[in-house]
Amino acid sequence: MGKIDILSLTADKLSEFVQSIGEPKFRSTQIFDWLHNKRVKSFDEMTNLSKALRVKLDEAAFIPSISVMKRQKSSDGTVKFLYAFADGNCIETVAMFYKHGMSVCVSSQVGCRMGCRFCASTQNGLVRNLSASEILLEVYETERQIGERADSLVLMGIGEPLDNYCNVCDFYDIITDSRGYALSRRSVSLSTCGLCDRIDELAELKLPLTLSISLHAATDEKRSEIMPINKRYSIERLMDSCKKYFAETGRRISFEYAVISGVNDSQQDADEIYGLLKGMTAHVNLIPVNPAANRNFTATREQAQSFCDKLTAKGINATIRRTLGNDISAACGQLRRDTVSEKQ
Ligand code: SAH
Repeated sequence: MGKIDILSLTADKLSEFVQSIGEPKFRSTQIFDWLHNKRVKSFDEMTNLSKALRVKLDEAAFIPSISVMKRQKSSDGTVKFLYAFADGNCIETVAMFYKHGMSVCVSSQVGCRMGCRFCASTQNGLVRNLSASEILLEVYETERQIGERADSLVLMGIGEPLDNYCNVCDFYDIITDSRGYALSRRSVSLSTCGLCDRIDELAELKLPLTLSISLHAATDEKRSEIMPINKRYSIERLMDSCKKYFAETGRRISFEYAVISGVNDSQQDADEIYGLLKGMTAHVNLIPVNPAANRNFTATREQAQSFCDKLTAKGINATIRRTLGNDISAACGQLRRDTVSEKQ
């Protein structure tokens, strides 16, 4: 049997594991503290455990690691990391700075299989899911590198978090555990292209997690054209899941909308968005599309602003997202993609 990735275990699973190797439950509290507060890299450093127990742990489990491959700083202060895991796979993590503190944008998969036509993360398909520990290490290492604690997290990096549902749920459980990093449960946002069955499951957990939906088009015809997931879950189905999520959690839903000039920014598009969102507690986050993945898709800030005006004129709560880190290709899997293709 392979060794257990001990950093991926929630406090409950760690307690079960510790008992399964014949140790008393309270040991798991000590081990959790070593792993998530003191962040040791080996069992040998767990000095309040007996030597015999440290050896036993080392035989049954391992502590995964992460290494920095690249670090880039934008003129606006945004810092982007290319991190590698033990098997050589790379992902990106971005640290952004706001008035209220540091926000870390983490990846949830190596690559992505959702196939959105404007997105650079999906161009070489999915390589594999990240484990809960690998997502955690993105946060821990970024905190160490920057020397600042993250105040909020967004699951908006490479990958579709709901396509890696169990590991993402365990990650959320561990990072918000009051005995560990103790991040406020309300300070995590998860962005999805709309895996409705998973949204429904998540709604039932009633977590105070902010859900962002990547909408990008308001009719099935248009959305299916740029986001293949729409062929599986129609916009109507997606809206049902959003309403259920709001009903169960009381959390306002955010809709992401990349403005693509001549594709999704007409008055009719604004009217259709209005039709979808009226009566809902929602917010639309606009961003001029980044042409990284598809040079036919472009938009200026002015075009995004003009579309924003169309939405606000109809009473829709819409804003343009600050585009941080443009000069370091901080958006959408570009750094990993460039590095992967350099190697080929
Ligand atoms: N898979 C998840 C999260 C990752 S992408 C999702 O689809 O939501 C994070 C956000 O960036 C999503 O809203 C995604 O649609 C958007 N995005 C991807 N490529 C983009 C591009 N070229 N320009 C603007 N936004 C983009």
